Amino acid sequence: MKRISLHKKHSYLANVNKQLEILSNGIFQNGDLPKFKDKITLTNQFPLKPNKLEVLQINVGYMCNQVCSHCHVDAGPDRKEIMTKETMLQCLEVIKKTEAHTLDLTGGAPEMNPHFRWFIEEASKAGIKDFIVRSNLTIIVANKKYNDIPEFFKKHNIHVVSSMPHWTKDKTDKQRGDGVFNASLKALKMLNAIGYGVPNSSLKLDLVYNPSGAFLPGDQNALEKDFKKELLEGFNIHFHNLFSITNLPISRFLDYLIASENYEDYMYALVEAYNPEAVKNVMCTNTLSVSWDGWLYDCDFNQMLELKVASPVNHISKYNEDLLQNRKITISQHCYGCTAGAGSSCQGTVA
Ligand code: SF4
Ligand code: SF4
Repeated sequence: MKRISLHKKHSYLANVNKQLEILSNGIFQNGDLPKFKDKITLTNQFPLKPNKLEVLQINVGYMCNQVCSHCHVDAGPDRKEIMTKETMLQCLEVIKKTEAHTLDLTGGAPEMNPHFRWFIEEASKAGIKDFIVRSNLTIIVANKKYNDIPEFFKKHNIHVVSSMPHWTKDKTDKQRGDGVFNASLKALKMLNAIGYGVPNSSLKLDLVYNPSGAFLPGDQNALEKDFKKELLEGFNIHFHNLFSITNLPISRFLDYLIASENYEDYMYALVEAYNPEAVKNVMCTNTLSVSWDGWLYDCDFNQMLELKVASPVNHISKYNEDLLQNRKITISQHCYGCTAGAGSSCQGTVA
């Protein structure tokens, strides 16, 4: 069956208000499970406030060459939301004056934004030293015009972070689409060939694992060991670290949970695994997320739920770091996904 986004399907879940209703009603309304706000209040962690801003995470568009089943962005080839050069210029103004040291580019497939390379060149001139690009790997081999992306990454010493749900073809293709496993291996080999991910190389290549079903990820170190062994022995592929990420109950993963009748069990599992230590380092405490159209969010997940920052300045054109750093972080029950077990963020576990 051809995979399409919730938007293209005209699914009721393409409306974020429906997602927020589901996350606030039922088991959370009748008191079976505590709301996230009440849970963190018990350990005096409400309201959640930002610490020092370290990372500006910019989503340059929701277009993607893949349509993965768990995607929290609901990305796909049919999504036309792409950051314009004008909005990028506004971002560059902020980059020149922000305290944040890292620019983290995500999507969709960020490489599909026609201004992607220009933006990195300009951000580099503006002083950014630490770049992260969340590349889905397959884009590198999807079309000739992307084949030199590894060299471009190398030129700017970009830290590449890529999803790879498993070391087997079946499991990877089931989650990310037919042909993704082989295309990902091809791209990983291209990256390895120029030094990415090989032992002692400063060209960082990390992989991201997220579970393929309604369960929480296992131990990150153990998973990393297994991935390293299998990818090296089976395919002679190297990478540096594996980040294990919990699927948050939003967007296409929420759709999957509801369709497979796993939603309530999954929420119980997340709440049961709640770890107050993980709350201290959730991603929203050191990151600010910018959407393709310049709105500001506490994190990429809040962006997808259209929960803008609770601040008098909520657009990149009005950016004021002092005011933004004074905000309270907007939370809801999806936040349990960041605080389960060892915690979860774009950089893996946090506790
Ligand atoms: S590659 Fe990433 S952005 Fe694209 S559909 Fe898959 S999870 Fe979503
Ligand atoms: S979902 Fe976003 S706002 Fe909620 S805890 Fe995670 S990073 Fe913070």
